[in-house]
Amino acid sequence: MTIAYRAKGNIYLNITNRCSSDCVFCLKRFTDTVYGYDLRLSREPDLDEILQALELEFLEGPADEVVFVGFGEPTLRLDEVLAVTEWLSLRRVRSRLDTNGHGQLINPDRQVAAELAAAGLDAVSVSLVAHNAEVYNQLCRPIYDKAFRAVVRFAQDCVAAGIQTRLTVVDLPEVDIEACRGIAERIGAGFHVRPLLTPDSEEVRA
Ligand code: SF4
Repeated sequence: MTIAYRAKGNIYLNITNRCSSDCVFCLKRFTDTVYGYDLRLSREPDLDEILQALELEFLEGPADEVVFVGFGEPTLRLDEVLAVTEWLSLRRVRSRLDTNGHGQLINPDRQVAAELAAAGLDAVSVSLVAHNAEVYNQLCRPIYDKAFRAVVRFAQDCVAAGIQTRLTVVDLPEVDIEACRGIAERIGAGFHVRPLLTPDSEEVRA
């Protein structure tokens, strides 16, 4: 199973296939592979296995950054994310978390953004998806009520904690891109529009 893989000068970490959303645009709906790597996990790797996979990747050379992403929501494994982030920070390797922004909902007794900042996380990319809760719920089908508001709040917390923060949206006809850009500007985050990935996308065919 693929725990760590390289693409675009980065190392990506795939530590869970579980998620608190069921997005209509999720890659998992039509493929098991990204950049030629099979990201379906037969079980979740423990911390030692994640660090071993990282060390093996670094034997191949340096990376621009290490990104928590994969086929699931990384903050479902918050303790592992924090431990790996600390490991990277000690080695002065840049780290980024790609998240659906449910981290605080998933871990209600924690101070997730503050803990990520304390571990040394450099950047977070929060999937805003939509300009309002109605469209968000249609596209993401989250397990939580009021998830949209929590996503924006989580991004605000990350900005306040000093983590380089950006909101992302997928370029879909239901999404008011400019309204989403306005939300990002209002909370002091960056903004990025991602293309919709399909079975014909380069990332999937690789
Ligand atoms: S948040 Fe990401 S992993 Fe989860 S269902 Fe949506 S696209 Fe898939």
